[in-house]
Amino acid sequence: ATPTALLVGTGRGAQMGILIKGPETLESTRRVDTVVLDKTGTVTTGVMSLVDVVAAPGEDVVRLQRWAAAVEAGSEHPIARAVVEGTPEPAAATAVTGLPGLGARGVVEGVEVTVGRASLFATVPTEVAEAVAAAEGDGRTPVVAGWEGVARGVLVVSDTLKPGAAEAVRALRDLGLRPLLVTGDNEGAARAVAAEVGIDEVVAGVMPSEKVDVVERLRAEGRVVAMVGDGVNDAPALASADLGLAMGAGTDVAIEASDLTLVRDDLAAAVDAVRLSRRTLATIK
Ligand code: ADP
Ligand code: MG
Repeated sequence: ATPTALLVGTGRGAQMGILIKGPETLESTRRVDTVVLDKTGTVTTGVMSLVDVVAAPGEDVVRLQRWAAAVEAGSEHPIARAVVEGTPEPAAATAVTGLPGLGARGVVEGVEVTVGRASLFATVPTEVAEAVAAAEGDGRTPVVAGWEGVARGVLVVSDTLKPGAAEAVRALRDLGLRPLLVTGDNEGAARAVAAEVGIDEVVAGVMPSEKVDVVERLRAEGRVVAMVGDGVNDAPALASADLGLAMGAGTDVAIEASDLTLVRDDLAAAVDAVRLSRRTLATIK
């Protein structure tokens, strides 16, 4: 490959809002046959909103929400932002720790409060389990909140698709690429989004460390894998993919781990990147 053509391609990418780390990146882009897409913040806007709060019998729903929001105020997760913005008067929390891929924990009014997946709680009352199942069935994300090992209610958040996401997935297919959706979110929410954009392969409920396993498994099958993501939890998978593409609005860690940054924060830019590399390299070979 001539360095000049690659540099021209790199320059053209920059004009299109595709920042390419090194000229040789275009070569790996051309060989890609599989695209692993993160859900939250990549296929969806990641700007979630709080749509419902359900308390277990005997629990004060207002306190539940204020305490959950207090803990979430210390987290940077898009889910956490939705909970905080949907809560008029959050309480205050100290010693907040993130539980990556699971939730967060912090001390509110002397009580250690946990928010996140139901699996974080030793005891999940039937009413809470039912609210979780109902939210997942609706394609939403339940945030279970509680303390002393007991799940005491559910805050339901909802995400929206990025405009143009379905068209971009179709274009990736037309380029001969096989799309997969991977997410730490629940199967119901993942399937709902996948159906809306036309993806039939879904890997849901994965821990951050397992996204990289999904990429590695595909590579072991001989596939050339592009990973598109935005979050801290996507960074290892972005780094291990043959080609890592970070959304421009993504976290610095994700951008650093990637080969390409899509400034427009739009999946159509991933399509443009593949087209650009093919065009650039076609003029070389
Ligand atoms: P994704 O792969 O979709 O970006 P993550 O791996 O970040 O998702 O999170 C996986 C799951 O862990 C979320 O769907 C949620 O159930 C739970 N979770 C993670 N962080 C939080 C948080 N701060 N508050 C509530 N739930 C959380
Ligand atoms: Mg994400």
